[in-house]
Amino acid sequence: MSEYFGNIKSSAVTIATGMGITLKHFFNAIHRKGDAGLDDVDYFKQVDGLVTLQYPHEAIPTPTRGRYRLYNEVDNCIGCGQCVRACPISCITMETIKTAADDLVSCGKTKDGQQKKFWIPVFDIDIAKCMTCGICTTVCPTECLFHTPVSDFSEFDRENLVYHFGNLTHLEAEAKRTKLAELQAKAQAEKEKKSLEK
Ligand code: SF4
Ligand code: SF4
Repeated sequence: MSEYFGNIKSSAVTIATGMGITLKHFFNAIHRKGDAGLDDVDYFKQVDGLVTLQYPHEAIPTPTRGRYRLYNEVDNCIGCGQCVRACPISCITMETIKTAADDLVSCGKTKDGQQKKFWIPVFDIDIAKCMTCGICTTVCPTECLFHTPVSDFSEFDRENLVYHFGNLTHLEAEAKRTKLAELQAKAQAEKEKKSLEK
């Protein structure tokens, strides 16, 4: 008999505890999360409050150190391709052109003084495929590839979700390719001439 009443008591306590939690969230939902709403600097420290928003007229703020949309600071990119090889879903496409010796100065150096040896006509990130895993950023030797706090970048046209970071126009890239091919042909001809003279 005592077990019977014990079970009833236990059930009543469980229901009361559950209802207590439900009521707590019910009354908390009367208030907006954060004293100053979305502009509250402590927004993410406050666990209680209404979180449903009238999106897209208002949106939950992103943490200042949020790791969302990728950005390539291409002036510091050396075209090593490590990010391309590391990406598990192949959403980075890169094309490089070797820099001719007399072009090295205009190709420039990275922030830490490293001479850049490649032009990068194509550096595209298909951000619609990117799962923001961050692997590409961790292998980047110059830290030019990084996440930004930008999390909301919807587009009507999927093509607009491919971001282009290349540092040459099509015409410039064609000129660099032609120049490189001519230099390589000249070097090859000289090499063959020397071997015939021997
Ligand atoms: S964050 Fe991950 S999925 Fe996105 S480009 Fe980098 S490696 Fe690929
Ligand atoms: S790993 Fe960094 S430096 Fe190398 S190609 Fe990618 S973005 Fe450029």
